[in-house]
Formats: sequence, structure tokens, C-alpha cells
Amino acid sequence: MGADIKSKIKMQNAKCKMTMQDSKIRKLKGANMDIDLISDKKDIHWEQDKCPWNMRENTNEHKCAVKNISICKYFKGIEYPDIVVCGYKK
Ligand code: SF4
Repeated sequence: MGADIKSKIKMQNAKCKMTMQDSKIRKLKGANMDIDLISDKKDIHWEQDKCPWNMRENTNEHKCAVKNISICKYFKGIEYPDIVVCGYKK
């Protein structure tokens, strides 16, 4: 992970702590998101787990959320900062 990214994450964590202390966290419904676990390793600079459904079917077809289109039936949400909560059980 590059120094620039580390410093951005530190700043983001500090901002989050400050916001929580100031009680300014809001939980807003209806976000329109693109979320997936299908990045090519050479295109990203962080570790990324693989979708268990894609692994089982040996594909990159399944995405957690596709903006304006759909949400995966196994998608259970996001935990800070970038954790997909997935209910896929097979
Ligand atoms: S919610 Fe789970 S099964 Fe669905 S696309 Fe995301 S990681 Fe894959």
C-alpha cells in the first residue's frame, strides 16, 4: 500500500472518529451504489477477497450492487470501511 493511500486512510479514520464524537453520523437509506469483488489485481493497490458465488461458478458475473440496476440476493450490507457482508452459503 502506498504512503499516499495510507495517509488518506489515516485522515479518513481521524475524520470518522471526530464525526462520531461530534454525533454527526447519519444513516441514510437508498444509496445508489456499485459494489463488486471482481477487480483485476493489477488495477488495484489493496487486497480484495473473492465473491464465493463467482468462485463456485468460476466467473466474474456476480456483483454485490450495480448502480441503477440490482442488488445481489445474498448482499447483507457494508461494514466500515469496505467490508461486504455476504450471505452466500453454498
Ligand atoms: S453479495 Fe456475496 S454472493 Fe453476492 S455478489 Fe457480493 S460477494 Fe458475491
